[in-house]
Amino acid sequence: MAEGVLCRESVELSGRERSVLRSMALRGTGSELYCALEAGHGHEHVAPVVVGEWWLRWWPGRRVLESRAECEAVSETGVGCSGPGGHEGGHRFTPADAARHAERR
Ligand SMILES: [Zn+2]
Ligand SMILES: [Zn+2]
Repeated sequence: MAEGVLCRESVELSGRERSVLRSMALRGTGSELYCALEAGHGHEHVAPVVVGEWWLRWWPGRRVLESRAECEAVSETGVGCSGPGGHEGGHRFTPADAARHAERR
């Protein structure tokens, strides 16, 4: 598999999930999220809701909005993995700033 190909499965935050974020005064991304894992990962998709802090994990019939520390893997060039700790698939070494810029669009 070519490096850097993402799953990009899309999911929308439900009204209930948005109100959970609001109740904690968290500023998330837009309501449409994309799986940030490598294409061909296992059954569980993961999308960042609040970069580096909150994630939506989902798979057929179930979805979980949760706070989890970022994956601790670091590339040879010192870039940290942008996935949540314990994620499926390969590590994603994308600088956090680049990820934030992409999400603003
Ligand atoms: Zn996925
Ligand atoms: Zn990782």
